[in-house]
Amino acid sequence: MSAFNWVIVEAECPWCQEMSTFILPFKYGELGYYDYQLGKTLKWGEGETEGRADAHDVLLLSISENPCSRCFSSEEDNGIVFYILIKENTLHSVFPSRNLPLDGYLILDERSGS
Ligand SMILES: [Zn+2]
Repeated sequence: MSAFNWVIVEAECPWCQEMSTFILPFKYGELGYYDYQLGKTLKWGEGETEGRADAHDVLLLSISENPCSRCFSSEEDNGIVFYILIKENTLHSVFPSRNLPLDGYLILDERSGS
């Protein structure tokens, strides 16, 4: 029942290599149905949150809500898999993938210290 957010990106389709707009849902930061774009900073408010605001590098998994507008190849595959990289709490970049997804998110900077 919990909410999620989206990041809306222009990215190269991994199937046809054409640029297309993808809507990528993710559950990280404050979960409030926020629409983000790359370069934006995640909100961490008083609502439900997922993850850690102090993480340096985080990799999220997302599956696009929409197919590629050029080749529509994802219609048979329930969306295109994307990895979303968050650096210092900012939506840094996305990497489309033809591989099967991981699950949830991965904090890349688990090192010692508070
Ligand atoms: Zn395509």
